[in-house]
Amino acid sequence: MAGIYIHIPFCKQACHYCNFFFSTSLKLKNDLISALILEIELQKNFLSGEMVETIYFGGGTPSLLSEKDLDEIFNQIQKHFTISSDPEITLEANPDDLNADNISILKNSPVNRLSIGIQSFHEADLKYMNRAHNAIEASDCIEKVQSAGFENLNIDLIYGTPGLSDELWLENLNKFHENKITHLSAYALTVEESTALDHFIKTGKSQALNDEQARSQMILLMDFMRHSGYEHYEVSNFALPGKRSRHNSSYWKGAAYLGLGPAAHSHQSNFRQWNIANNAKYIQSIKTGKVPMEREILSEIQQYNEFLMVSLRTVWGIDLKIIEERFGKEKLEDLLLNSIPFQNSGKMIQNQGVLKLNPTGMLEADRITAELFLD
Ligand code: SF4
Repeated sequence: MAGIYIHIPFCKQACHYCNFFFSTSLKLKNDLISALILEIELQKNFLSGEMVETIYFGGGTPSLLSEKDLDEIFNQIQKHFTISSDPEITLEANPDDLNADNISILKNSPVNRLSIGIQSFHEADLKYMNRAHNAIEASDCIEKVQSAGFENLNIDLIYGTPGLSDELWLENLNKFHENKITHLSAYALTVEESTALDHFIKTGKSQALNDEQARSQMILLMDFMRHSGYEHYEVSNFALPGKRSRHNSSYWKGAAYLGLGPAAHSHQSNFRQWNIANNAKYIQSIKTGKVPMEREILSEIQQYNEFLMVSLRTVWGIDLKIIEERFGKEKLEDLLLNSIPFQNSGKMIQNQGVLKLNPTGMLEADRITAELFLD
């Protein structure tokens, strides 16, 4: 089981909080797509013939791809990789791109799952984040894609913005639920270094974020989603039964994946690699037949920490048998010993060979995981 991630590094405008790799100039888009087609061929052996179960277009803004771009990318992937008969193919889309023409192009392509960057249904929130869409587009696009037959749908929402009261947050969640959307990714707004938001807060133009607000809105989120019948299967992800993201689940289960495009990351059990985060240099290098990437061989400690990090974020938790088989009895005993304070405080539970976070532990997943890491 393997996955392919394709990074489309272009956006119409820069959201104030975003530190992903993208360019707001579309000048190099055609050259970049040509380079991407070449990279698919250059990387054809990365997955050693493993069956590709999932393909994920992320970004940036993949909904900026034209019909021709999509056709060329899919043809090239089909030519060089073995695709399962029932793949999950997700494309991240922004509401302002989801007009009738684009939806029809996507519906006629192999894409069978959309992940829409709604972030909020409230105008003031969208303006604060500098999103390219407005509240009307946020609401309308859901109805449009559902009417076109996209049933497997994720939306992203962000909480913890300064203007978002608990009531407004619940309104966002109700809107999600009323629309019978199958999957939700919900993130607390964070301030990443060197973003516009970081600058605004440092210069007093925006107020600092409130950790307590983010925590209480995550509690509201977890309660709301549980009562609405969604599985909380990863810290930030909720799905109706049978509608978990297969692509992201394979990341969290440590499956191999190939990342294509600038800044894309790839992973095999004992190494990870990442492409250069620069569109012009990426295109230049690919033209000479060389994938511009760096590779890091993972030490046993890094593999252990990575396994802990991805497993603990999920509902399936850490399989203790795998810890013993891959890392030895001593590491298993250390892990169990170090987890005792968290088990005693009700943040973790050990049951049937699995160690996992309870809902209260999910609120502090990053801190708890870091405390269980090996140095
Ligand atoms: S659209 Fe997505 S990738 Fe582009 S700037 Fe906004 S959050 Fe970042």
